[in-house]
Amino acid sequence: MKTVWDAVVVGGGPAGSFFAFELAKRGLSVCVFEEHAAVGLPSHCAGHLSIRSLRSLGLYPLPQGVLENTFSAANFYSPSGAKFSVHLSQPVTCAVNRARFDQLLAEKAACAGAEFCLGSRVESLVVEGGFVKGVNVAQPDGSTVRVSARLVVDAEGVSSRLLRQAGLHALNPEGLVYAVEAEVDGVCEVEEHAVEVYVGKAYAPNFYGWLIPRLDGTAKVGLAVGKGNPKAYFERLWRRHPVASRQLKKAKVKSMAFHAITLGGPIPQAYGNGFLAVGDCASQVKSTTGGGVIFSITCAKIAAEVAAEALQNGDLSADFLQLYQRRFMDALGFDVSVMLRARKALNQFSDEKLDRAVRFVEKVGFGKALRDIDEIDFQGQMLLSILKKPAAYATLAYLLAMYLPDFRP
Ligand SMILES: Cc1cc2nc3c(=O)[nH]c(=O)nc-3n(C[C@H](O)[C@H](O)[C@H](O)COP(=O)(O)OP(=O)(O)OC[C@H]3O[C@@H](n4cnc5c(N)ncnc54)[C@H](O)[C@@H]3O)c2cc1C
Repeated sequence: MKTVWDAVVVGGGPAGSFFAFELAKRGLSVCVFEEHAAVGLPSHCAGHLSIRSLRSLGLYPLPQGVLENTFSAANFYSPSGAKFSVHLSQPVTCAVNRARFDQLLAEKAACAGAEFCLGSRVESLVVEGGFVKGVNVAQPDGSTVRVSARLVVDAEGVSSRLLRQAGLHALNPEGLVYAVEAEVDGVCEVEEHAVEVYVGKAYAPNFYGWLIPRLDGTAKVGLAVGKGNPKAYFERLWRRHPVASRQLKKAKVKSMAFHAITLGGPIPQAYGNGFLAVGDCASQVKSTTGGGVIFSITCAKIAAEVAAEALQNGDLSADFLQLYQRRFMDALGFDVSVMLRARKALNQFSDEKLDRAVRFVEKVGFGKALRDIDEIDFQGQMLLSILKKPAAYATLAYLLAMYLPDFRP
């Protein structure tokens, strides 16, 4: 194995592979270390993504085997089973097979010239004179190899063990929720092209539950919770939720995975001397929905642009690399702050209030105001675009009125 690179990447998830793709296509040498024997496995993600964002990143249409379904509707259920539906004028989101999606990104990177070392766990950073200079990689025989790089890109996901070694703050544990996701067979009473969402503290405190159907009766079903045992909540949703229990009454669990989601908003510093952090480990995730794939890829692209400039100029200092933070906050900052506020407000709603809110938004026809949206990632901008509609205005005013009495600055 070559032991000196322009950049090494820790982690072959979407953030790591897309960074490697963007850097390699600029003619720079890059190696991705992935601890698992195959990219994308084990999979822990629902893979529910915005079609428009994928398209703007050059990733849509997706090849067969990666795309599982497309969605033009969503049904939201309160804990008592009250329903609010949105039916859009066109498919706006899709579900991907996350393992195959990750493999697709890795193949793109490899075709552009990036190298992948699978089954290679990065144990630690090499830090010299205040600069990150490479990584120590565990070998299958138990030995460790030092690999030098002008830049190290941390894309290790939510575990984020390397941030501290680079002199940065680790992810804030208060921003984490704990998820369980199951592959299930035999769901019923679901629309083929609608995502089911279950809100409320009784079933998923500080987050929500979801059911993402495929066309063959299988589905991805999961939830996340701020506190407590996600599996116990999952069983409760399955058995007791007035709607989910019907949809899952004949279903069987084929597999189950547990993983954390980071909702606290981007870390304040995702760069250091010779070091960048991208994706979940930099908490580049939507606080409202926990979706992080599009933001990870968007930020990986920005990171590669800045990295290429830094490598070409020979300036890998934090002073130069802070441009990365500035550029990704320019791209996401407004939406991130709207979503953080929305998450905070949602977490304060009692189940009774949620129940009333769901009934209200259905009654005023809020779903119709959303009919023409074609984007779900940039939710601050989405909000601005729908606010002109009376039903959206009424909904916002109603939610605000419900929220304010609970507000604790
Ligand atoms: C249950 C659940 C459902 C989700 N659903 C959605 C969804 O529907 N839509 C969406 O957009 N997002 C979703 N997310 C979030 C999404 O999965 C993440 O935001 C996304 O995977 C982040 O990509 P990443 O590349 O930063 O990290 P990851 O995908 O976690 O990739 C990190 C990679 O680094 C490797 N790694 C870690 N440490 C090391 C090391 N020391 N050495 C070598 N390799 C290492 C890991 O093996 C892994 O392959 C979901 C998350 C969960 C938990």
